[in-house]
Amino acid sequence: MPANPFFKACTRLFDRHHRSSSLPVVVALALSLPGFTYANSDIRKESGAFEFHAPLFDSELDAPEQDPLQSFIEQNAGQEIWREYRPSENDNVWTFFQNRSLSELDLIDLFKAENSQAYLSNLESVENIRYQLYQNNRLARLSLTMTSGETILFQKNEDSLFTLSISSGDQLPEFQTFTGEIHGSLYESARKAGVSASAILQFATIFQWQIDFNKDLRAGDRFELLIDDSLKNSQGFDGDILAARLYQEDEIHTAVRYSDGQYYTPEGKMLSSSFSRYPLGKKSRVSSGFNLARKHPITGQVRPHRGTDWAVPVGTAVYAPADGFIVKAQTNHPAAGNFIEMRNGRRYVTRYLHLSQLNVKEGQQVRKGDLIGKTGNTGLSTGPHLHYELFVDGQAVDVMTAKLPTGEPLQGDALTRFKMATQPLVTAMDQDSSKKFVASKDNSSSES
Ligand SMILES: [Zn+2]
Repeated sequence: MPANPFFKACTRLFDRHHRSSSLPVVVALALSLPGFTYANSDIRKESGAFEFHAPLFDSELDAPEQDPLQSFIEQNAGQEIWREYRPSENDNVWTFFQNRSLSELDLIDLFKAENSQAYLSNLESVENIRYQLYQNNRLARLSLTMTSGETILFQKNEDSLFTLSISSGDQLPEFQTFTGEIHGSLYESARKAGVSASAILQFATIFQWQIDFNKDLRAGDRFELLIDDSLKNSQGFDGDILAARLYQEDEIHTAVRYSDGQYYTPEGKMLSSSFSRYPLGKKSRVSSGFNLARKHPITGQVRPHRGTDWAVPVGTAVYAPADGFIVKAQTNHPAAGNFIEMRNGRRYVTRYLHLSQLNVKEGQQVRKGDLIGKTGNTGLSTGPHLHYELFVDGQAVDVMTAKLPTGEPLQGDALTRFKMATQPLVTAMDQDSSKKFVASKDNSSSES
């Protein structure tokens, strides 16, 4: 059915991204063609690299452990969670569905929604993808934050079809305010205040660079969340946090959401730490790139390479690419050699393999730019190099193309627009806090 819009879209995607190697169908098709050279130059580049060193295979190092709060919420209320992905330059909607193990039937259904092609067939103008799943892992909602500031929402209706709605981002949606005090776990306290599991996780994500929600909360800390009411639906899914505040003993953290889907302080400073792409401090030669469908140069088996290798002399300094803490600092792993695993914020994990020297210990807090170790040739490695891995929400991603937090503040016109758009939220929180929080704090101090 060449007239079918979905078929046309797929054909176009296939043409444009026929070198995108993570699609089994593309690989299978490609391999069946006589005289086909796999991914054009990749295999030749790889075999050159192989003489220098053998890149590590996935099965030899377990996936990093999940954030405890995330695991807990997924087990208790998995289906409510908004999952998030920031597409990089090379992404298309096919690879996105493949890499996230989403159902292709849902993708077909998305393309059936009216005007959907305009938004789905090209992710270049998509800033952020967010989605919620039913318990059976099928798609319930998909939301695209466009670079224009528009939000495109696909919602599955009772007929199991997706309907598409567009919001311009100019108007502040109706919102509901939730406030509470933390006693025991954040999860219990926030649930008691009527906050959904999805919003609790979002709250922890917003402040991931300021606070470790697994460790840094104290009894008596208070929270205030302004949640978009317009996205609430009968299936138990709710909307985004528009603004959030956390009152701790010495500090008040405030975040407001802008039309780009990111959270800033009321002054327009981004809440996320900046994230450097290069842990070696400078660009070095990539000897073997990230490739989920890489074939072993000798056996021909598919052996994904979930990291980036830089060929550098033994003893080259490795720096923390962002603030974080050390989850693992192990020596003599049979494959990884001496290696470090670091958690950066709540959503990111980075790993550094084959090191000659470890300068950090497990549990240690590090700041961006701290020296954490020196490169080497330990473990399963046949030449000096750094094997570097980046995981976002537990998924291995290509650090060379991933969209990383810039930490850049809003400036000029953008700052003016931001302040105008978010002023009502800040005012609402100020009013609430003067009523509830400051008053109650005064009371408690006068009583004691
Ligand atoms: Zn490698």
